Amino acid sequence: MATILPVAQLGEEILALVAAPVTESEFASEWLEILSQSMQATMLLRNGVGIAAPQIYVSKRLIIVASRPNLRYPDAPNMDAIVMINPEITKRSIQMVLGEEGCLSVPDERGQVARADQISVQYFTLAGEKIYQDFSGFPARIVQHEIDHLDGILFVERI
Ligand code: ZN
Repeated sequence: MATILPVAQLGEEILALVAAPVTESEFASEWLEILSQSMQATMLLRNGVGIAAPQIYVSKRLIIVASRPNLRYPDAPNMDAIVMINPEITKRSIQMVLGEEGCLSVPDERGQVARADQISVQYFTLAGEKIYQDFSGFPARIVQHEIDHLDGILFVERI
């Protein structure tokens, strides 16, 4: 059962920590499934287009990327939500693009952040399957923003 979770806010220590990898024994577990469902429900309720586990006080390398138009991002492209476990950017374009970002952990603040325009990402699914996927544009921006959370970095530090 998905639960709406409280979201850590700027200044809280959990947001500055480097999150721990999800371990082999946690793949395909019920707790990982429930965690990702609760993260997704929390993200949807708050009109987010992505969320990282440290934002809901779990210092683990799990993110959800879910670009779609909503109240906070009316021009976002539509994509199916992707749960990424232990994500790593294996390649990034030299081409950087500026774009506006906000964050569920940084209320009422938006800023222009330079991000790689195209990235290649390696991650695991909830079941533990290894995936390689390329992203460009806004979804690539979300992936970079969420992986930053796993390394204790907030977008306001990149402005
Ligand atoms: Zn964020």
